[in-house]
Order: sequence, then C-alpha cells, then structure tokens
Amino acid sequence: MSTREERLRVMLEARRREVLEGVPEDSWYKEEEIALQEPKAERLKRFDDALLRLEIGQYGFCASCHQEIEEEWLASLPLIRICKRCDTNAEWSGVIKQLRQLRKQREKKSQHPLWQ
Ligand SMILES: [Zn+2]
Repeated sequence: MSTREERLRVMLEARRREVLEGVPEDSWYKEEEIALQEPKAERLKRFDDALLRLEIGQYGFCASCHQEIEEEWLASLPLIRICKRCDTNAEWSGVIKQLRQLRKQREKKSQHPLWQ
C-alpha cells in the first residue's frame, strides 16, 4: 500500500515530466497550462520546490488552515497551497481566479451553437 507521500511524489514527478516534455494535447488541463502562460523554467522550478517541500514534509498542507490538502484537489492543481475548503474564501489566489474564468469561458463556448 502506498502512502500519501508516495502517491503525491509520483503525481508531482509525472506532472514535472510533462512540463519538460510538453503537456499532451488531449490532456484535460492543457488549456489551463496555456492560460497560466508561465515560462517553462519558472514552472519547472515550482515543481522542484514542491518535490523538495514533500521531502521535508511541508508539501500538501494548506497555508490557510494548515490541514492536509485533499489529494484529488492536488491532482488537479499540484502547485496549489490552499485546500478546497479554504479556496471558497481565497480572494488572494490569482491562479484560482484565472482557472475559474477559463472554465467559465470554456462552458460558454460549449453552449454556443457554433461549437455543438
Ligand atoms: Zn485550508
């Protein structure tokens, strides 16, 4: 049985590899990667930091309530520093705001007659 730490390491290393090799076109978060428009080197560094924090037991904890961040939430947003519960009142999180806007745009697009 794998521990939470091992599962998170596997997830982080896989996503880091995708930053290096390019996110597959058909992956569901490709659009989010584009939306963030973060330079590759910077994004890689953030994954390295996350892996380092995992080593010292500081990855995956909420910066707001200090509880463990939900694993499925980390799988969607591996570099997030707040948990799903706290996200609802996280006015300061620019990334989450951007992702929400993107999701809204995408939903609108799919409802548009031209996109059906
Ligand atoms: Zn929290």
